[in-house]
Amino acid sequence: MNILEQFNLHGKTALVTGGSRGLGLEIAYGLHQAGARVALLARRESFFAEALKLIPKAITIVADVQDEASLEAAFAQVGPVDILVNAAGITWGQDALEVPVEKVRQVLDVNITGAFLASRIAARGMKAKGYGKILNVASVAGLAGSPSEIMDAAAYSASKGGLIALTRDLAVKWGPFGIRVNALAPGFFPTRMTEKLLPRIEALVQARTPLGRLGQTGELAAAALYLCSPASDYVTGQVLAVDGGMTAL
Ligand code: NAP
Repeated sequence: MNILEQFNLHGKTALVTGGSRGLGLEIAYGLHQAGARVALLARRESFFAEALKLIPKAITIVADVQDEASLEAAFAQVGPVDILVNAAGITWGQDALEVPVEKVRQVLDVNITGAFLASRIAARGMKAKGYGKILNVASVAGLAGSPSEIMDAAAYSASKGGLIALTRDLAVKWGPFGIRVNALAPGFFPTRMTEKLLPRIEALVQARTPLGRLGQTGELAAAALYLCSPASDYVTGQVLAVDGGMTAL
């Protein structure tokens, strides 16, 4: 097969949780450009207006990954998916000695349980087809600890470490069904999630990043496309850091 054909997603359907903005939308746009039919899922309708300017043909679904019934309804609306991207995520910045337990639970619930629930709904259809791709958007925060002055969000780090463990475990369990499960570990990228954080920590991040800068909009989509396309059909259970070399230090 022609090498570029291995990145072709014509005839495939992709559902992207957290696809209404930020990194999820960037990934969805990349999959759309590669030919996939794309469904975007998020809690708030209001963010879909901008997303639809980028991907006018996208299916938009208001749902909460914390709610299994709303996820079931979302997948029923889209039909069988070939690709699931779990990009829905939240964070909470507060000293680990003081953060309220409800915030800890909420972050873990959205970032881990939400991905778990969406993955198993998607996997039922993928198992029936004997093929599927699940991509979890983890973080460098799931690979190493962060000093408080860079990121004071211990539950977030725990959630992303858990998501990486989930990626590996489901890759082992579902490999025999032809379902590939991989993760991205992005470094720091400008999005709504980081808009207040980055101006404060940019110099610190730069100093700890071999490439000497933050990630830029558009620098994650190609790595996501690789892990969602036939180009990576012999790759499963892996974590690809897109972090300017931060985790190589
Ligand atoms: P963002 O702009 O805040 O996007 C988060 C997305 O998740 C939105 O679409 C949001 O829509 C959706 N979402 C949040 N909670 C949800 C829920 N319970 N159910 C359904 N959708 C939900 O942040 P982002 O930076 O693009 O983050 C995307 C992913 O990348 C996250 O998993 C984040 O942890 C990860 N990440 C980001 C960075 C970074 O530097 N930006 C680095 C590493 C990893 P609603 O609010 O409308 O639900």
